[in-house]
Amino acid sequence: MPEPRTAVARPVIAIAGLGIESSTFSPARTEAPAFHPRRGTDVLTRYPFLTPGTPLRTAADWRGALVGKALPGGTVTASAYAELSGELLDRLGEMGPLDGLWYDIHGAMTVEGMDDAEADLLARIRETVGPDVIVSTSMDLHGNVSRDLVHLSDLITCYRTAPHEDAMETKERAARNLVELLVSGAPRPVKAWIPVPVLLAGEQTSTRIEPARSVYAAVDEVEAAEGVTDAAIWVGYAWADEPRNRAAVVVTGQAEEAVTAGAERLARGFWEARHDFAFVAPTGTLDECLDEALASTARPYFVSDTGDNPTAGGAGDVTWGLERVLSRPEFKDPSGPTVLYASLPGPAAVDTAVRAGAGATVTVTAGAEADDRHAGPLTLTGEVHAIRHGDHDAETEVVLRVGSVHVILTRLRKPYHHEHDFTDLSLDPRSADLVIVKIGYLEPELFAMAADWKMALTPGGVDQDLLRLGHHRVSRPLYPFDRDMPTPDLTARVVPPA
Ligand SMILES: [Zn+2]
Repeated sequence: MPEPRTAVARPVIAIAGLGIESSTFSPARTEAPAFHPRRGTDVLTRYPFLTPGTPLRTAADWRGALVGKALPGGTVTASAYAELSGELLDRLGEMGPLDGLWYDIHGAMTVEGMDDAEADLLARIRETVGPDVIVSTSMDLHGNVSRDLVHLSDLITCYRTAPHEDAMETKERAARNLVELLVSGAPRPVKAWIPVPVLLAGEQTSTRIEPARSVYAAVDEVEAAEGVTDAAIWVGYAWADEPRNRAAVVVTGQAEEAVTAGAERLARGFWEARHDFAFVAPTGTLDECLDEALASTARPYFVSDTGDNPTAGGAGDVTWGLERVLSRPEFKDPSGPTVLYASLPGPAAVDTAVRAGAGATVTVTAGAEADDRHAGPLTLTGEVHAIRHGDHDAETEVVLRVGSVHVILTRLRKPYHHEHDFTDLSLDPRSADLVIVKIGYLEPELFAMAADWKMALTPGGVDQDLLRLGHHRVSRPLYPFDRDMPTPDLTARVVPPA
């Protein structure tokens, strides 16, 4: 029988975590400032459900240790990890006794020389805060779940939608379940973990469409069972080459039978759907996508330049796609079809354009500073259409009109997900003929705006063609690398508490 615990009327709960999705196939490296770490009470301001006066804020004594969130990128350097994790642990150590800890992570952080950074950090957190502290872990469904991470967590969950419209709801659920467990004094939950040997790109597993829609719909049904606290399915992260990279299921709760049966149902559902996962939009080479866009009457026509998507972990400065776009004869003349291209980092090019000012014609060179494997730095001559300072990610953005292509250049890399990302630069995506974005699946605003859309399978650190990337260290057999592999063991592994 699990040991009963003492109920705590108003528990003391720390919040800590480092979140990034990092591609081991990108030559880029991520340093500590990219995490924009928040500390102390500043951590709480990340979460609307912890605003003073809300029920959850009142129910516990929340203490921010350190929470850092970085844009997806390249592998985190060993020194950046040492610096951030060291400070996080120091702050936890100074906090005094805790009842709970909310571990707010993404789950796909790769660190130089490590295979399971999130489990390593949680093990050190447990050494610091003591074995009795109850830990609730919240993740992105593109995170990876090793047995160690489940072992070290008492509750663990992830998003249920991709795109992640339920990100804040998931974090709130993780925090609320932690508070309820501590206040109730119930025993540490039973945890059933099942690794599912399938590794798919996020663009094949959008929950907007089948089969992921049905696979994920079963999560709510499993969670609704008596004795189950939470249920979750992770797709895993395809662009890192570690043994933990694959799908997984975890169900937690007080009733072992319901927990294990629920986990097995979800794992079977995912495994049995493996052949049905397809890209969320039609795919093609970049030239095929451009040909179709030009032939179509749908406007605006969106094309995803997917291989260098910064929100999946691409370096963002691959020039391969833009070079091909600019070489197309259709776009050489300013009176050609209006094309918006987002985006290419090039700090020196941005400085030159800013010095020259709007309306000036400049020749600049940009891109391929981090990832030059597919094409070199790109030199382009155009008119400065817009300049904008003060962006959170890009710092400074400029738009250069080259022929009929409006190229967005940035000081630092930035994802373009919203209409205002364009209108802030005096660009109107709704009236454009063609909008090309370094992105995978379109984020909701762009998806709603697109009259048609195609995903170009372009090269880069997050190449969507997984089989040509060259994974060597993932656990085999693994679908689709081993397409005809035998049915794996999908029975629930009950993982003991830490
Ligand atoms: Zn994700």
